[in-house]
Amino acid sequence: MQIVEQPDIFLREPTSEVKFPLSSEDQVIIDQMIDIMYRNNGIGLAANQVGYARRMFVMDTTSSKAGAMVFINPVIEKVAKEKLTEKEGCLSCQKQLVEVRRPIYVGLKYFCRHGEEQYKTFYYLSSRVVQHEMDHLNGKLIIDKDFLEEAEKEKEELNESYKESVRQAKERKE
Ligand SMILES: [Zn+2]
Repeated sequence: MQIVEQPDIFLREPTSEVKFPLSSEDQVIIDQMIDIMYRNNGIGLAANQVGYARRMFVMDTTSSKAGAMVFINPVIEKVAKEKLTEKEGCLSCQKQLVEVRRPIYVGLKYFCRHGEEQYKTFYYLSSRVVQHEMDHLNGKLIIDKDFLEEAEKEKEELNESYKESVRQAKERKE
């Protein structure tokens, strides 16, 4: 099993829902995904990144690397209004770090390996990873134009507010 890399169009193709109970193939693939994620020092990996077009991903944002979480048929049900920009990498877009603006928390509904429905809110880094992997399942990558445009827009806004504060400081002095 190998990581599918950009610009392979497989990464852009639709992924389908997983059926329960999981097949033994699904179980093996999930174990391999966890293994590949750890071996590549990743903190998240979507099934279509290893050539399997199913709606599932794995994640471990802890430093102990002892317990990967498995998400099957995940759906984002809640998003924070507040956003944060951070540099992000991707195992399918090697050597590229891209500034991506994302909501600081998300509420996610998903199924575990045993087919039980779960709901959990993820914050900061794990929220970022969840959104990144959800993007993969929807054929979207961090190098996509709208992410770049949003980062540019944010920079302009920061620039404008900086100019504004300089102008106000000048006025106070005069
Ligand atoms: Zn990725």
